[in-house]
Amino acid sequence: MFFCKRSHRNKLLAIILGFYLAINPNNLVSAKNLSFIKPNIPATDKISNFTIAQAFKQLDFSNNYYEKLAEADYFYQRGDLSQAKQIQQQVKPAFAPNATIPAAVDDLAKLDAKGQQYWQTATEAIKADPELESEITSSIFEPLQSLVKEDPGFIPGHILLADTYDLYGEEKLALATIERAAEMYPVREDILDTKIDLLLLYGKPLEASIAAREFAYSYPNNPKHQAYEQAANQYFEQYKKKLNSKITTSGILGSIGQIATGNELGALEIGQMLLAGEKSAGQSFAQSIKAQSQMVSDQRQLKYLNDIGQKLAKLMGRNEFEYEFNIVNDPTPNAFALPGGKIFFHTGMLELMDSEAELAGVLAHEIAHSVLSHSYQQIGESALTGTASNLITSMIGRGAGAASNVGGLLLNQKFSRNKEKQSDILGLRVLDAAGYSADGLYNVMAKLKQLSGGGASLLSSHPASEERMRYLEELIQTNGYNRYGYEGVEAYRAVFPR
Ligand SMILES: [Zn+2]
Repeated sequence: MFFCKRSHRNKLLAIILGFYLAINPNNLVSAKNLSFIKPNIPATDKISNFTIAQAFKQLDFSNNYYEKLAEADYFYQRGDLSQAKQIQQQVKPAFAPNATIPAAVDDLAKLDAKGQQYWQTATEAIKADPELESEITSSIFEPLQSLVKEDPGFIPGHILLADTYDLYGEEKLALATIERAAEMYPVREDILDTKIDLLLLYGKPLEASIAAREFAYSYPNNPKHQAYEQAANQYFEQYKKKLNSKITTSGILGSIGQIATGNELGALEIGQMLLAGEKSAGQSFAQSIKAQSQMVSDQRQLKYLNDIGQKLAKLMGRNEFEYEFNIVNDPTPNAFALPGGKIFFHTGMLELMDSEAELAGVLAHEIAHSVLSHSYQQIGESALTGTASNLITSMIGRGAGAASNVGGLLLNQKFSRNKEKQSDILGLRVLDAAGYSADGLYNVMAKLKQLSGGGASLLSSHPASEERMRYLEELIQTNGYNRYGYEGVEAYRAVFPR
């Protein structure tokens, strides 16, 4: 095991500070007394200097856009990649240069005098272990917050701030700090390890599992990717044990099921589905959705979708899943993922798209949701926490069996911005690796954005915001993904004609 346990992490902290911290709970100020420091914390989801995505505003799909891409495909398929690129560049606007996320720095000596002073003030104060809450705030948290804000590239600053929040009992702030750092520097193992460690410490093994898996699958060339995958599986088992004991000790799922259905069997079904794992939970939910929906049975369309989906899924991981790709007759432009690799597309979504690269872009994103256990987590959280009332309301509102209603809930699921990002990161990697133009998902988002007229997205599960468009541009540029690969305009239109 290379993940540091709690004691190791304190050791790490001590190494950073050059001494061992005396962690005597009597020396610590209670968490609630520290609430006054909260306004100083930068919001987790506001990485500064986001610029508005200009490129997608200029995307003009009516301006022979797809005719040009089809022309480019002709050359691409004959191996003339430079000609294909040249043609695509005629209609694809250039992306704005990346917003600057400063390069990671580990060496304190590389900071300016002010940055070094922040670090010194904070570490001296931690050594002195101040007892007054005002001292803690002014001598530890304020300089560390300034350091993270003014020198965001200095990685030890993020880690020390998160660890110090943890030491002073500020769980939420510790997690918010490390998650913000992980967003900015997703390839840093030290940040990831701190995040995983905190999640485990705070009793969130499923989140820890997802974080480890996200890294393992997003960076398959990292020498530790297999170790992270194994760790992800191990934390997943921890979560299932926790789930099992909650079910048996509190009977919480039993009461949900009884309220919802008046039938205890329904509740047991949900619990058993979750405990049986993602693969079989996905099978059950998929079955109930298919039973409730008008499914498209066009074999040619299903085969096309399935062929591309299976190809992408092979590049993702989670080979134990039985991937399945379905089409629901529904004009809303949406697509969603159930646990265990069960993916559904609405006809409205397929009608919105014009190329195989776009289809593959959305497919890869949805498969990523499934691979990263997002839907599974959503059901588990609803079932185990106080927010189960949402689940209950949804169930009562729909009135049928418990299992089918969980399916119904998933249809309307919204993932957090963070989960959307995770799926974009993994999805884009796979889209590029499969040889498609990396713009595929980006284009679909641009169309959804235009459809919704700048307001809320019609794609209820997957909001298309300017910030998200900008983020996709950054991901594509940072990773050097090819925007001028295979588009597959004619191939797509042959199966899904306009
Ligand atoms: Zn999504």
